[in-house]
Amino acid sequence: MSPDRNQEPEGAPFDSPTGFQYIRGVIIGFFRLIFYAVVAYVIYKFVMFVLAPRRRQRTGARTGGQSGVMVKDEVCNTYLPREDAVLETVEGENHYFCSQACRGAFLAQRKGGTAGAGRART
Ligand SMILES: [Zn+2]
Repeated sequence: MSPDRNQEPEGAPFDSPTGFQYIRGVIIGFFRLIFYAVVAYVIYKFVMFVLAPRRRQRTGARTGGQSGVMVKDEVCNTYLPREDAVLETVEGENHYFCSQACRGAFLAQRKGGTAGAGRART
């Protein structure tokens, strides 16, 4: 750790081993204190991180699950909360609808419009 002690035996400020050990003990104790403080801080942050989202989800579910995200129904041009929307993923794009009827109308319209993909899977 400290090659200085072997290379410069003359005029070393902490020549006596007891003094050196004392300084070393103080430094180690200091770093140990910082280490414990950091560990305690990390644990505190972790606990807060784990607890906080659950509380939010619970309160959000009680108030009706309104996350503030509105999506548009492309069939009947209505805006509705994403939680209440019917999701349909077409070619990697998400489309939202207010009901299964609108979703069916969209799919029928898309099939008739492109008439390319013949995926008849019910
Ligand atoms: Zn609709």
